[in-house]
Amino acid sequence: MTIEQVPTWVQPSHPAFIAVKTYKSGNFSKYATSATHIPAGTIIANFSTAATPAGDKAYSSLQVSETEHIELNSDLLYANHSCDPNVIFDTTSWTVTAIRDIEEGEPIAFNYLSTEWEMAQAFPCECGSPKCLGEIRGAKYVPTKVLRGYFVNRHIKKMLEQRDQDGAVN
Ligand SMILES: [Zn+2]
Repeated sequence: MTIEQVPTWVQPSHPAFIAVKTYKSGNFSKYATSATHIPAGTIIANFSTAATPAGDKAYSSLQVSETEHIELNSDLLYANHSCDPNVIFDTTSWTVTAIRDIEEGEPIAFNYLSTEWEMAQAFPCECGSPKCLGEIRGAKYVPTKVLRGYFVNRHIKKMLEQRDQDGAVN
């Protein structure tokens, strides 16, 4: 399936930090890279201003609470997944922060399991990290003890607690 979504926002949306590049092949043709050297701890974006509620979760949406999904409507859409990410999307502050130094040109990536309980579209991760979680289907499918080694947002923590109380996956 090829999805070539026409951007609804003015590009580039975050020129100080994000440069969007294009793959030579593949379904999702664009990806976000660092436009500059970004020191660890830098807040590179606030996604509250451009975001709009998503009617339903989609490959492009971000889960921000137990029940709510948003469309980012910015170049942040092109941030890929990594199990060893260089940024976090914090759904409490609605900010994106570098969690380590990022070199210019490095792909910007966050852990989709930090926000998504159940992905609209699962995919096999190819991040190559020793911490790679393999098939990315959503936090719902990962044991809590495995996710302890990763940053996850408050709504995901709550949903894990609820799931474990209900006695499902452990
Ligand atoms: Zn991975």
